[in-house]
Amino acid sequence: MKFTDLNPQGGIGANCSLCEIGPFKFVIDSGLHPKYAGAESLPKHDAISRNSLDFIILTHCHLDHLGSLPLLSREHPDAPVILSYPSSILARRMLSNSISVMRRQRSELNIPELPFYGRGDLTALYDRLKTPQLHTPLILDKNGQKIEITLHHAGHVAGAVSVSIKYKRKTVFFTGDILFNDQRTLDGAALPQEPVDILITETTRGGTETPINQSRESEIVRLLQQVNSTLKKEGSVLIPVFALGRMQEMLFVLDEAFRKKAIPKVPVFCSGLGMDLVNHFHEISKNTNRVRFNRRVLKSMGARPLPKRIDPGVKPPMNGIYLVSSGMMVENTPSYKLASGMLGDPKNSILFVGYCDPNTPGGKLLTAKQCDSFDFDAVDVVQQINAKVTKFDLSGHANREELVSYAQKISPRALILHHGDPEAREWFKETLKDENFSIIDPEPLKTYDI
Ligand SMILES: [Zn+2]
Ligand SMILES: [Zn+2]
Repeated sequence: MKFTDLNPQGGIGANCSLCEIGPFKFVIDSGLHPKYAGAESLPKHDAISRNSLDFIILTHCHLDHLGSLPLLSREHPDAPVILSYPSSILARRMLSNSISVMRRQRSELNIPELPFYGRGDLTALYDRLKTPQLHTPLILDKNGQKIEITLHHAGHVAGAVSVSIKYKRKTVFFTGDILFNDQRTLDGAALPQEPVDILITETTRGGTETPINQSRESEIVRLLQQVNSTLKKEGSVLIPVFALGRMQEMLFVLDEAFRKKAIPKVPVFCSGLGMDLVNHFHEISKNTNRVRFNRRVLKSMGARPLPKRIDPGVKPPMNGIYLVSSGMMVENTPSYKLASGMLGDPKNSILFVGYCDPNTPGGKLLTAKQCDSFDFDAVDVVQQINAKVTKFDLSGHANREELVSYAQKISPRALILHHGDPEAREWFKETLKDENFSIIDPEPLKTYDI
């Protein structure tokens, strides 16, 4: 197989992998880098000649995997786009939101090339979608040769899949973003256990050690204790979350806590996209047995949309729980603006529940100390860190130990490291150095013949 990582910045960002196996040429995922806007946020699509792809696979609908798919698909109109049924529903909402965000960035950040695509491109993309059943091979032909593509349930977020690609009795397995543990709203990954030739594994949590006595449940208990003590002091809680997945999981957890009276009843504010996605989760859970979600949760907890206007540096208009994106508190997002008004008050809490890139405002806030001053430079606000700032391990990604034992179990000939920052990849290299397989940490834009 020839493998090229088309994510020009490396690490986690505009995820996009070009693979060539026999006569087949295909791409897995085509994202947008969450930390950049405009051309800098795109994968290097022009490394692929026009209309030369045989197919495109989408693992899931987070924008670092999906955000530039309409652009890639427009350049390769004959390539079917293979994805799970839930992703085919979620992609529509995520992409139409992406157009609105790009339109706003065009004027706010003065980037004339935005938006990269319009409604017409989305309609054309939707005609190219193919949604095979999970765990059932889809066979494609080219020049009399066959390739077999199978999607596997990957946990992580509704619709997320890992992919096995079989050609001439050899299998390449791509984990995508993966979580083995069950979540409240979603079952954990169900992966094949047979040996494979090449394993491409995500490495997101390679730099994160999981304490022995810590579990998802113990982290939920700790989170609710912090929410409870904040609300009892009449403070507000900000939980920065990705609108897709983490938001619905947190809604489920909070609804349960309200019912059990584990936390006082207060208003819960959510961003519009997250609330819309609740309806999609509801539809999906009616049609698949791996996603559990009922839109009644919103009503029973009295969730309401965020106030239209959030003034930076100003205390939020009402006390309550703010469940808003972005999860990494990226500049100018609702969570960033709200944090700029909440951080100075010792009664408030800012609680992170997912992955935070160390260079995002969320990542920087997590490493800062109490009483330091924190610069929200995009909105011209400086605040002293008086609120409680804590991280809870409710990540949608597998522990590094679980990924290592999966790699050891399926014993590939070669292991390609993917979707992780340099420190995370280093840990995998070091831990697996005595194994029988070669380990490749691909440089961006370089083609490896494996
Ligand atoms: Zn993801
Ligand atoms: Zn990702």
